[in-house]
Amino acid sequence: MRAERANAKINLYLNVVGRRENGYHNIVSIMQTVSLCDLVTVEYLPAPQLSIRLYASGNDSMPTDGRNLAWRAAERYLGKIGQSGEVRITVEKHIPMAAGLAGGSADAAAVLRAMNRLCGNRLSTRELCALGAGLGADIPFCIMGGGALVTGIGEQLEKITPMPQCPLVVACMGEGISTPWGYGKLDELHGNFVDAPVFDDRPDTIIRAMHENTVAEHTPCFFNIFEEIVPDLRPRVGEIKAVMNAGGALRAMMSGSGPSVFGVFPDMESAERVTEKLKEMGAAAFVCHPTAAYQGENCGE
Ligand code: ATP
Repeated sequence: MRAERANAKINLYLNVVGRRENGYHNIVSIMQTVSLCDLVTVEYLPAPQLSIRLYASGNDSMPTDGRNLAWRAAERYLGKIGQSGEVRITVEKHIPMAAGLAGGSADAAAVLRAMNRLCGNRLSTRELCALGAGLGADIPFCIMGGGALVTGIGEQLEKITPMPQCPLVVACMGEGISTPWGYGKLDELHGNFVDAPVFDDRPDTIIRAMHENTVAEHTPCFFNIFEEIVPDLRPRVGEIKAVMNAGGALRAMMSGSGPSVFGVFPDMESAERVTEKLKEMGAAAFVCHPTAAYQGENCGE
């Protein structure tokens, strides 16, 4: 049996810099894993027949069949190494779903890491990431964890120094928007991104700040293009940001296409106070912190 943490991700920077003819968008993103996580355990017994069972706790609405990314990850892994058998996955769900925190991708990545360990590290990290990419754009990052600069259509990953330790609050309330619909709205606003992008040095500044432990001074460089559309449509996003800002956040910003919001706090006391307040408002709210890349023989290297 293998137990893995499946950490949520936040985007410290997320911009669209172009649109390809096939409709995919070129992005620039700085992703960072945080300690808010699902707990995933995997048991595997080689057998002539393939059978995958997924058991969930903590969230009744998560699919437990082939619609679950974690389920599909196990199937793909065994297909890739040409083995069959009985797989039993349990997911203790803590990450809010469909919130821009990549919870499903994190679970799938955890299953890929676990299956690879249980099968004697048959795939290299690179191969594991390529397998994950076929299932979801965020999965390669979720296999590695820590901090990364993500470019292209999300498939190009460059490891960077993770965000230094600091109190974070992640919160979400109400429904989000569909991500493809959101990209459509951004296309309308930005003329399908046909113009060459304006030079933007904020990603480099953030990466340097992460390396030099000066993120607190550089939070004004954080950016999320989806904030141009989502808060107007989902007022809860603005309410959460207002509570975080009033409670002393150095910066509060939406993650991914929302509706989750993360706040960077100067101290634990203010992070905890704001979290309590957000919970009283009915939000799912968590105090957490940035995490380093997953350690181990075949991960995070
Ligand atoms: P992203 O940030 O990558 O866009 P997200 O955080 O917005 O992801 P997820 O929590 O990954 O969204 O879930 C989106 C949808 O995927 C859910 O509505 C759910 O039906 C489906 N799903 C499949 N597998 C999982 C899983 N293991 N955990 C959560 N959702 C899953």
